[in-house]
This record gives sequence, structure tokens and C-alpha cells, in this order.
Amino acid sequence: MSTNKPMPVPTEISAPFWDGLKAGRLNLQRCNSCGHWIFFPRRHCDKCWSHDVEWREVAGTGTLYTYTLTRIPTLPDFADEMPQKMAVVELDEGVRINTTLVGLDEDEIRVGMRVKPVFDKVKPDGTTLLRFTGLDKTVAPRRFDDPEAAAAPEEAAVPLRQIPVGDEAALQALVSDEFTSWSNQIVVDQALIDEFARLSGDDYWIHTDPEKARKQGPFGGTIAHGALVQVLQSRLKIPLGFEVIGFSNMVNYGSDRLRFPSPVPAGARIHARARVKRVEKVRSGTQLTLEVNIHVVGAERPSVINDLVILYM
Ligand SMILES: [Zn+2]
Repeated sequence: MSTNKPMPVPTEISAPFWDGLKAGRLNLQRCNSCGHWIFFPRRHCDKCWSHDVEWREVAGTGTLYTYTLTRIPTLPDFADEMPQKMAVVELDEGVRINTTLVGLDEDEIRVGMRVKPVFDKVKPDGTTLLRFTGLDKTVAPRRFDDPEAAAAPEEAAVPLRQIPVGDEAALQALVSDEFTSWSNQIVVDQALIDEFARLSGDDYWIHTDPEKARKQGPFGGTIAHGALVQVLQSRLKIPLGFEVIGFSNMVNYGSDRLRFPSPVPAGARIHARARVKRVEKVRSGTQLTLEVNIHVVGAERPSVINDLVILYM
């Protein structure tokens, strides 16, 4: 999974901190003149101004000093982390570190709780960010081989209801204002958007140039093509709960309505749900209109509304 989230750029002064994280170690500076621990990394002690500072490895345990839950992404790239549990952790050495909490439910978080470090490898190149979790928690490392496997749908235990295409009453009974439950989730990352740009020829910078899109775009980053999100419906298994049987041919007749009400930022996770909007007898057979809505996970507003028309002949 590739991400456009801003990443740390180690400097000569901070490199031992970032290199330590990659190796699963938390390194802090300590002042040899007065014994004060120092964070963030710098050239001198922020208490006595001595330049005699030294890197030391620490355990990383501490207490939660304060936190906040962000429900609106600070950048579009963070839409997949909502709510983000932003926190300040006070290490046992006394320094305070801005971080995010992981592996904790909202109602498990308490100011003053004991926490330990999580060395969160966020990119295949080894880039590691420092997060924290509860002392008694185990946080599984991310997998980079198959990000979609991690979000695989739970196998529906409920058998599909089979409805003969001739049973008009049963088909009409499917029409509802209620949507199904959600499908599996997939990540729309920059690599996928780039592939679609190549395939479709639509390589407009708002989709393909993260740098420019961050600085000049209206969304603070790149977004997926609406058409890409639309076709990704094929990868989203929507639990419809029924299947129509007994027809000789089934045709995707197109769309009655196709809207892209809100963007899908690169790196966002999407899922879908649907409802049967209409069932009609037409000259050539029976026409079923399925309203499919695709959302960024956690977003109220859909990113795609597609009234799919399926013709059974
Ligand atoms: Zn000092």
C-alpha cells in the first residue's frame, strides 16, 4: 500500500531518533552537564544550554498526558484513520511527545493511563513512526504484501434467497428505502489511481501529482477519478441477500443516474452498500434498478451514487 501522507525527513540532528525507531528502539538525548532529558532532538540542552548532549536508549514507557479524537481529517490523506487518536505522552524520563494512540478503543483511553511505544512501520522502505498503546495491549504490525487481505469481508453465513425472475410479487417486495449493510473495504491508493490514469488517459494533476495537489488543489492532496471509484464496485462485495434465478440472459443495461458527490482522497478506504430502488416489467424482460452508494469509510456523504439498471431476459 502506498500512501501520500507526509513522512518525516530526518536531519543530521534527528537521524538517531528516526534510525532508532526503524530498529525498534527509542533513542532520546540526555544532557551530560545537568542530566536533563531532551525532546525534540536538538544541538543543545534546553535547560542549561550545554552542548554536551548524548543519545541514550530508553524503555519508552510513560503516561498519557492528554489526547483528542479528530473526526475530520487534518489532511485528506488521513481519511482512513478516522477518528485519529492524537495524544501527548509523557515519558518516564519527563519529556512529552506528540503522537497517536493505536490499538485502543475510544472508551479505553484515560488521561494518566500507562502506555508503551509501538514502532509502527508505515512504509515498505522501513519508515517507522512512534505511536503508543496501552501497557497490556499487543498491536500487530502492518502487512505490506496484501493490504486488501487485511480488510477481507467476513463470509456471509446467511444463504442467498433465490427469487425466480417470474415471481413478480417477490421481486417487488425487494424494493426498499433501506440499504444493505456494508461491503468489504478496499484502499484506493496512489498506485491504483496512477494505473487508472494510464489506462484511461486522464492523467490530470489533481489525480496524479501529489506534490502539486497538496499545494494548489482544492482537496489538499490527490483524489481518485470518479470513474475509478465507480468501477471499483466490482471489488466490493455488497451483501444483497438475494439472487434472481431462472432467466436466460442478464444484461448490465447501464445507469439511470451517476453522481460523484464527494471526492475519494488517495489512500482512503472505501466500502459500499445498496438497495433495490425499482422493479419494472419492460418489453424485453424484467428491469431491476439497484442504487449502489460507495462511501469513504466513516463518511456520511457518498462518493459515488450509481443507479444500476439490470435487465433480466
Ligand atoms: Zn543541561
